[in-house]
Amino acid sequence: MIVVMRSGASATEVQAVVKRVEELGYQAHLSAGRERTIIGVIGDERPLNEAAFHLLDGVDKVVRILKPYKLASRDFHPQDTVVAINGIRVGGPRVTVIAGPCSVESREQLLETALAVKEAGATLLRAGAFKPRTSPYSFQGLGPRALELLAEVKETVSMPIVTEAMAPEQVPLVAEVADVIQIGTRNMQNFALLHAAGESGKPVLLKRGMMSTMEELLMSAEYILSHGNYGVILCERGIRTFETYTRNTLDLAAVPVLKQMTHLPILVDPSHATGNWEWVTPLALAGIAAGADGLLIEVHPHPERALSDGTQSLRPERFGALVAKVRAVAEAVGRSV
Ligand code: PEP
Ligand code: MN
Repeated sequence: MIVVMRSGASATEVQAVVKRVEELGYQAHLSAGRERTIIGVIGDERPLNEAAFHLLDGVDKVVRILKPYKLASRDFHPQDTVVAINGIRVGGPRVTVIAGPCSVESREQLLETALAVKEAGATLLRAGAFKPRTSPYSFQGLGPRALELLAEVKETVSMPIVTEAMAPEQVPLVAEVADVIQIGTRNMQNFALLHAAGESGKPVLLKRGMMSTMEELLMSAEYILSHGNYGVILCERGIRTFETYTRNTLDLAAVPVLKQMTHLPILVDPSHATGNWEWVTPLALAGIAAGADGLLIEVHPHPERALSDGTQSLRPERFGALVAKVRAVAEAVGRSV
């Protein structure tokens, strides 16, 4: 249920509603828009009656949200959410390019990639320390050593870092270095991990499960938001279909559809969607044309030597060419890079 305040309602009136929500045993979440404040009443709302709030001063209307996700919905937060990460804003008029190698492999590899992607226009560096691999025999990431290298390179190149946490107990360690905690496709419904990421207070990049619906993605976002952590960035990275020629099938429609369903920013990851560097650029351009707020691109200085996801990784010069094209498409749809 949401309580929509009249435009111009006073802070005291808003506080009185919050107090009433809490007295009734619910959590109150505030969305302060330019025009008016909306108060989300979070908890099992079946026993709750609209009349509990109707007569309070400053209340315009009380609306039940029938969708299973509430805080993630546009009803609760009509304007776009912008997630601020050390001065970089994800979800505003500018398109955000996040890039880096799939895994941290060495200081040299990480530094070389970071300098190259920064030079080309990426504003966040992404690389995995803990890798969720389908096979237990594949490279699993350098773990804590990779976090040390990320901390070092972050200082050297002064770029915020995105890196993945795979388990709730890894979250505090990852949060020491990461500016954004990634939750991968295989963990989208790891609810203990979602709780831990929500508690951390750090922005979270939540990738869509490869077999999950958009509604399920938003329910997972809701777990994080319900901790009062509103810094959630969604990512469409391809879903499983009958097609096997590409690694996954990029669900481009998810971009405009999610834009309607939710206020959260949405990125497109054409690297994991296609699994092949040759198709990364066209789908990156399509993602931006469809309204995505940014891209997640895998880049490696020597893809043939990469310990994970080499076939889908762009060489730095190809990444530079991609960013130039993305810039042109972004401008064509009224945005910038
Ligand atoms: C990754 O980002 O390197 C990764 C493993 O992605 P996903 O979780 O989308 O497969
Ligand atoms: Mn990868």
